[in-house]
Amino acid sequence: MKVQCKNCGHVYNLNEKKVPKRKAKFKCRQCQEFVYLNVANVPPKSQSKDQIKECPKCGFDLSPAAIECPNCNIILEKYKSYIEKKQAENMQNESDAAEGQ
Ligand SMILES: [Zn+2]
Ligand SMILES: [Zn+2]
Repeated sequence: MKVQCKNCGHVYNLNEKKVPKRKAKFKCRQCQEFVYLNVANVPPKSQSKDQIKECPKCGFDLSPAAIECPNCNIILEKYKSYIEKKQAENMQNESDAAEGQ
């Protein structure tokens, strides 16, 4: 990889295998300024995963803009309100049963 000193413009050709994976810097031989490697600028892989949402029914990976699941054909908003309604009903039933005892 090539790294350029921002101070004097000198270009260093570095062996990538010898470069530490995280943030690294070294002193420029020309001007004695620190040269920073931009390895830290590479976004971590986990970031892209946050943008994917899962189908609540089948777990299929969906794009954030998806409104329905191409795998099980549910409409996400409808399914969500359906689940919420069901959960509310279940809670209602549980409290009813508790009162009956
Ligand atoms: Zn320099
Ligand atoms: Zn699905």
